[in-house]
Amino acid sequence: MKIIVIGAGIVGSSVAYHLTKKEAEVEVIVVDHGHEGQATAAGAGIVCPWFSVPDNPDIYRLAKAGACYYPNLISELKKMGETEIGYKLVGAIKVSADPEELDVMEKLVRVRLSETSEVGEITRLSGEETKRLFPPLREDLQGIHVTGGARVDGQLLKDALLRVAEKQGAKVQHGDARLKVGDGQVAGVHVEGEFIVGDAVVVTAGAWAKESLYTADVNVPVEPQKGQIVHLELPDVDTSEWPVVLPESSHYLLAFDDSRVVAGATRERGSGFDYRVTARGMDEVLREALTVAPGLKDATLKDVRIGFRPVSPDLLPLIGEVPSVPNIVVANGLGSLGLTMGPYVGKLASQLALGESVDMDLEAYSPVRKVEEK
Ligand code: FAD
Repeated sequence: MKIIVIGAGIVGSSVAYHLTKKEAEVEVIVVDHGHEGQATAAGAGIVCPWFSVPDNPDIYRLAKAGACYYPNLISELKKMGETEIGYKLVGAIKVSADPEELDVMEKLVRVRLSETSEVGEITRLSGEETKRLFPPLREDLQGIHVTGGARVDGQLLKDALLRVAEKQGAKVQHGDARLKVGDGQVAGVHVEGEFIVGDAVVVTAGAWAKESLYTADVNVPVEPQKGQIVHLELPDVDTSEWPVVLPESSHYLLAFDDSRVVAGATRERGSGFDYRVTARGMDEVLREALTVAPGLKDATLKDVRIGFRPVSPDLLPLIGEVPSVPNIVVANGLGSLGLTMGPYVGKLASQLALGESVDMDLEAYSPVRKVEEK
């Protein structure tokens, strides 16, 4: 069986990894265009759904499964000799100046802990204790700390998954893939003048998926949501153990090993593929970050990244087969939780492509469901 994967962000790389792990003979070809603004390369890297309050419980259901899948995946990759994976369980703190807000959050995470041990230990922190864990924070912010929060460098993880997939036989090709459909089946993809025949195609093309599905007359309602995100450096400061910080807004802070603090991010719906750093975007991200963590004022502004999150109008992921063309599998629309869900969703999509049963009910995520704008 030959399976083509269109797009090598976190989802496509995970699909390729899981397909090539199979004992059955599966030939895997991954085609990636390398668009500017790939979400995986820009993503902040928070893997901590425990404090999130999504409108739809099906979003939390998938994010929880995604976060719980990480430790298993990381240990598999380590066994395959991968050392640069970029995942670390550093814990996370929900911060607020309002103890009543924290009471509500504490109740929520305690319920979640009763359902999922991966939430880890929960501790209420004073302002001083909170600041000790993340020194640039404002003094009046208290916190709730969970040990089960993690960070991941999406780029490193994606590269590790692809490397192992290639070791296991996958071929990775650069180019723009276009589907060719005949007799209600996808026959393969055109890539830069070449035609590649396939038995099934997994479309993991992120925010660009509409274009790749267009030639198959399949309409999947995915749109780009632009995110601008800032990387700051605190020279000579060891930030390697700092936890993820989640304030009350949709913004956040997290740190990496190399004295780096990441402050994110804008959520610009209706942005199209506008790959520009804007004054408004930088104002929003830096204002939010410095309000919560004034100790970052003198940090060096090292990098600004732009990524296009793939989002559906109702913000629910789009995962499943396409009834009109049954050998197409779509795995998309993971929005702002795609690094959390992506590796697990890639596993599910690989099972669908092989016609295997999956260990989660995917009906709510059908890529051809009726969607209402949220
Ligand atoms: P992408 O990573 O965008 O990959 C799609 C790939 O498909 C691209 O490489 C593209 O070139 C390729 N492609 C498209 N069309 C074609 C074609 N026709 N032929 C060949 N290749 C094609 N998630 C979290 O869980 N935690 C976070 O902290 C977090 N922070 C984020 C911060 C920002 C600023 C952004 C932008 C996103 C963040 N996310 C986060 C979300 C997460 O990054 C995305 O949901 C996830 O990376 C999407 O992965 P993907 O594989 O679907 O798409």
